[in-house]
Order: sequence, then structure tokens, then C-alpha cells
Amino acid sequence: MADNFIEQIVEEDLAAGRESIQTRFPPEPNGYLHIGHAKSMFVNFGIAEKYNGKCNLFFDDTNPSKEKTEYVDAIRRDIRWLGYHWEKEVYASDFFDTIYAYAERLITEGKAFVCDLSPEEIKNTRGTLTEPGTESPYRNRTPEENLRLFREMRDGKYADGEKCLRAKIDMASPNVNLRDPVIYRILHATHHRTGDKWCIYPMYDYAHPICDYLQGVTHSLCTLEFEDHRPLYDWVGYSLGFSPKPRQIEFARLNLTNLVMSKRYLKKLVEEGSVHGWDDPRMPTLAGLRNRGIPAEAIKDFCQRAGVTKAQSECEIGYFEAVVRDYLNLHAPRAMAVVDPIRLTLTNYEGEEEVEFEVNQLDENAGKRRIVFGKELYIEKSDFSLDPPPKYHRLKLGGYARLKSAYIVRADEAVTDERGNVVEVRCTYFPESKSGNDTSGIKAKGVLHWVNAATCVDAELRQYDHLLRDADYSGQDFSERINLDSEHIFHAKAEPYLAEAEDGTAFQLMRTGYYKTAVENGRHILSEIVSLKDNFNK
Ligand code: ATP
Ligand code: MG
Repeated sequence: MADNFIEQIVEEDLAAGRESIQTRFPPEPNGYLHIGHAKSMFVNFGIAEKYNGKCNLFFDDTNPSKEKTEYVDAIRRDIRWLGYHWEKEVYASDFFDTIYAYAERLITEGKAFVCDLSPEEIKNTRGTLTEPGTESPYRNRTPEENLRLFREMRDGKYADGEKCLRAKIDMASPNVNLRDPVIYRILHATHHRTGDKWCIYPMYDYAHPICDYLQGVTHSLCTLEFEDHRPLYDWVGYSLGFSPKPRQIEFARLNLTNLVMSKRYLKKLVEEGSVHGWDDPRMPTLAGLRNRGIPAEAIKDFCQRAGVTKAQSECEIGYFEAVVRDYLNLHAPRAMAVVDPIRLTLTNYEGEEEVEFEVNQLDENAGKRRIVFGKELYIEKSDFSLDPPPKYHRLKLGGYARLKSAYIVRADEAVTDERGNVVEVRCTYFPESKSGNDTSGIKAKGVLHWVNAATCVDAELRQYDHLLRDADYSGQDFSERINLDSEHIFHAKAEPYLAEAEDGTAFQLMRTGYYKTAVENGRHILSEIVSLKDNFNK
């Protein structure tokens, strides 16, 4: 069953005799992949998987001045992390010889010409959406002259921009992309793979259909901004006699509120030091999301739920977070950490004992673990009030609350410092009220998390705001919306269990949120993956 319009087309093509499906995921190695690319992978790898086809990793490296091997390596790592497997790893630059030979063929057949207009002049003679363009004065050069000049371009006789190769199509076409588009430009730049072999490079619109064809791509899936380029994609295929011709199909980009999703802009954030790097946990890059502790499965689940359509839209970041939260709620073990601690002393308790703590009540295989309970504990400062509002179910003087997995306690006395801040609550505990075997008959509505002062560890707890403020914040420009103050650091007291966990483990810190553990320079770090509260209205 087709899940979306692309799958429907694929099924029709299979029914009409297409034997197998070949797709490709085509990143340009000019930056790190972001969550938008995850959607493209979901579509390209997903369709290949579903229809027993194959998906290549295709590096679109026709733009040497911006591409780097560092990015190639990062892209490979991120795709693997999401759990996708590519059939072949292919580069546009693998095909430069063939792409060049095809250009000579177009020239010989009178379908391309060398133009001496400057990039500026070409732009100015392109016409508009309502007016046709003007033909280049070089348009009617003979194939022999064109071939000689093109070879001279290749051999380095001309400077950047001095000449270019243009397809000879139709300057009056209603589609601006068909008005004798440039298909080769001169660029004296070192390529990350071909070095200085070439000083002319093919343009994306010309190279892409050729690379698709040479890889045997059946369905070339891309985002909507290429819809107007499809006639040119098809022109290249027809002009070069491709059979069977790859078919380009466009779908809507994934856009998320409160996230910047363009490599160019993300690069700027990194270069200007607004974030700690490409993998900063606030970044929408896959490296950032991984570092944030967001599971790959949750990202794929999100792409699935967001769906594949032709309609442009912006998805609420809250929806993404809700999907991540749903996933972690089912999978993350629970633990306790106190962010803004005050002491809680049980005046009638001596010694220590182990209490049983359910690892994840939603996962029946998770079982229970043991936590050491004692006389001196820490609770959140906000879990005790000297001046409680109505219906306050946490601790107040003379009031009762349960300590999670342990006993009910009553607050008898608050100790304050010289400024009147509560630093310690002295309580009575009730031995018959132990969790799982409560015969005390005492009613306590609030359940508080706690850590044992004798065994807890100090941890640095990091919380994050969105990197981009809401769209209605002051200016429209990204740089005005950027929230440089989006990382907040707190000092917390954590269960020793958290410190023993393997780096990168995701936990639900009870009543606090979902956090990932790490050790940095000997310090225990708990960094926020996603908040606990679901603010998003599904
Ligand atoms: P950016 O504008 O962020 O630099 P791009 O489109 O230039 O993105 P490419 O490396 O060319 O980045 O993208 C590889 C593939 O991923 C392309 O097919 C592109 O259409 C797709 N893609 C990029 N961003 C998104 C997105 N937000 N949603 C869906 N697909 C995307
Ligand atoms: Mg691009």
C-alpha cells in the first residue's frame, strides 16, 4: 500500500513494467546534514527499502570552492547513525569525464554554444516572468568554433567568468530555466577529489540528470524548489537520448519553527562562535541532535508522522519534541536528581536501607533497582514552602508528602539562613508507610523525588532554549531572532546510578525532564534532551 503520492507513482511505474527501483540521497558536501536531510533520506532510502530497490549515496560535488572532505566524512557518519545503508557511494566528480564528453556531443549537435557574455550580462538578458529574454550575440557560432572554444576553456586559456557553455534552448520560453541556461562555467579552484585536473565545472541542473542516468536512478526525488527545473532535467535526458529516462519527482521540504535549516546559515553560527560547533546540542544538525541525546529512531518516527506531500508547510517544533518525548517515555530508565537542593533531615531515622525503585513503569522488562535511603537527603527547594498557596501538595510545615519509593514524611521545622532562605527541612518519617507495604493509613498527595546526601554525586545540569526565538520576535531576520542566551547551567545533586551510566545514556529525571549523561573533564554532566512537560497540543 502506498503511503504517499511518490509511492503511488512508484507503484504505477512498477505495474507498467519498471523492473526495479533505484533512488539516491544527494547531499552537497558543503556542510553537515540537518533534520531536513533526514526527511530526504527517509524518502529516498525508505522507498528503496519498501520496494526492494537500492539507494545510493550520491555526493553532489560540482561546486569545488565550498566542498570539503571533512563534510563527506560527517555526512557518512550521520547517515549510518540514522540506520540507513547505501548501495554505492558515488560522486558527481566520478563522472566529470563523461559529463564533459556529453557537453561536446551537445555542441556537435548544435544544442550548446560557448558564450562570451559576463555572468552579469547573462543575468540582465534573461528577461522576466512576463518578458522573454534576449538571444546572446554568440548564439549562432558554428559547432566547430564552439568545440574549439570549449576545449580552450577546459585547457585553462580563459579566466573565471570570461566564457561559459550554454544550452541552446529557447530565450522566449515561459520557463526562465530554459532560456539558454549556463551548463558549464570556468572556475580555477582546487576540487576536494579531482584536485586541479579541471578548471571548468558543470552546473547542477546539467550534471544532475546525467549523474542520475549513469547510476541507473529510476526516481530522482528532490524538494519542491526544483519543480521549475524539471523541464531542464528532462531536456538534458531527451537531448542525450537517455533510455530509460530517470523521473524527477518533487516533495515539500521539512521546515520546523524555531530552527534554522539552511547549511549556509548554520555554518555562519559555527564560524561566528554563536554555538559550540556543528554538533552543539541546540543545532538542528544530525550531529547536534545525536549529541543532544535524541534517538535516531525518534527522528525517523517523526519523518514518518510528518508525511510526504507536495504542500509547503512549517511544522511546530513542539510536535517534533512530542515525538521524541513519546519515544523516551517508553524507553528511558527513570532516575532522580535534585536541581536546586535543600537538605531534608529525618529526625527519627537512623542507619540506612535499600528501597526498590521501578526502572520504567511502562516497560515491563525493565524491572526494579535498589536505592540507598538514609537520614540525610536532598529535595528540591521548590518542593517545600513556608507560605504555600491553596492546594499545595508538596511539603509545608505540618504537612505530609511521600518520598518516592520510600516513606511518607511530615515537615516539622524549617531551618533558614541569615537571609531567611530555607536551607533544611526537619521531618518525621513514618515506618509503616513504606512504599509497596503502606499500612500507616496516612494520606499524602505529593510524591517528591530525592537523593541521599551520603551517596549522591555533584553534577552539572544543562538546559536549553530554542536557538531561534518565536517568529513574532522583533525582526524577521534570523540573526535578530537568534537566542544567544539559550544554554543554562545549574548545579545538581544526582543519584550515583547516573554517574555510573555509560556516556550518552538517556534518562527520565523524575519531575525534571529527559537528560543524557556524559563525563567531561572529570565532571558529571546531565544535559537536557527534551523537557518533561508536553506543551504541544496534538
Ligand atoms: P540547505 O539549503 O540546507 O543547504 P540543500 O538542499 O542545499 O540544503 P543538499 O545537500 O543539496 O542541501 O541536500 C541534499 C538533499 O536533501 C536534496 O535532495 C535536498 O532537496 C534535500 N533537503 C535539503 N533540505 C531539506 C529539507 N528541509 N527537507 C527535505 N529535504 C531536504
Ligand atoms: Mg544544495
